[in-house]
Amino acid sequence: MLISLIIPCYNEEEALPFLYNALCDVRKEVTGHKFEFIFVNDGSRDKTSDVIRGFADNDADVKYVFFSRNFGKEAAMYAGLEKSKGDLVAIMDADMQDPPSLIPKMIEMIENDEADIVASRRVSREGEPKIRSFFARMFYKLINRMVEVEIADGARDFRLMKRQVVDAILDLQERQRFSKGIFAWVGFRTKWLEFVNTERVAGETKWSFFKLFKYAIDGIVAFTTAPLRLATYVGFGTAFLGFVYLVYYFIRAIILRIYNEVPGYPSLLCFILFIGGMILMALGILGEYMGRTFIEVKRRPLYIKSEETKE
Ligand code: UDP
Ligand code: MG
Repeated sequence: MLISLIIPCYNEEEALPFLYNALCDVRKEVTGHKFEFIFVNDGSRDKTSDVIRGFADNDADVKYVFFSRNFGKEAAMYAGLEKSKGDLVAIMDADMQDPPSLIPKMIEMIENDEADIVASRRVSREGEPKIRSFFARMFYKLINRMVEVEIADGARDFRLMKRQVVDAILDLQERQRFSKGIFAWVGFRTKWLEFVNTERVAGETKWSFFKLFKYAIDGIVAFTTAPLRLATYVGFGTAFLGFVYLVYYFIRAIILRIYNEVPGYPSLLCFILFIGGMILMALGILGEYMGRTFIEVKRRPLYIKSEETKE
């Protein structure tokens, strides 16, 4: 069998040599299979491309795709999946946070037909800022309440899949990809391998708090229209409150003949603010979906290649 390993890389010149060595060890350990290592350079600004070309010059199993600029990890994963020819395909980070030593075990599990996908999950978030772990956990609670497929907390993109699964993933043609959701959405039998979080070997994380926040919103909007419904509910709720308030004043003024002694300026202001806020919120939610529809409709390619290995 041919096994493809896909590695998205963005400014990973320091980490790549470690990873490549580890992959060579895996190749030696797993006998009876052929490997291809597919490096996707996602528009790095350091020497990542030279490092990858260096691997390819001395190793026929190394293939690569270079992007014309940074398109993001989702695009890099897609490009790698498209290029892969393997019967089994794995995606892994360049920084060794996805331990290559798990690969033999993953291959064995699929060969024994225990699953179509062997995915990995971190059991701890050690070495990660507390605040990030907290928001990550909140995000998974929230999203799982809204979407119909189960999106696992701590799940990594690191996974080994059968060809069938890869083809299903490639069939999902959306431009704004949220892989955690896509993986869950395509289905198939999944087995989870758990491992303890490790810190990256070299270089720096590409994620900032704002990137993660954006990622969370993208994830929700890509997989559920629940927020739109929320806007509707809130709208009904506020309208109902307004109606109750109206009835209350009607009874007070017309039936009980109690007139407003004090001008109702503060309460009025509160209501205007409240309702204004609700309207803006609903508009914002609508806008999120409309904006995304706009981007999908343009059907731009997910990435632009600048260079790649032949065949
Ligand atoms: N990555 C990428 N494009 C990007 C950002 C990241 O291809 O725009 C790659 C990166 O090189 C690494 C993987 O995605 O192989 C995960 O990135 P990182 O380690 O920075 O994320 P973290 O492990 O902190 O979640
Ligand atoms: Mg990392």
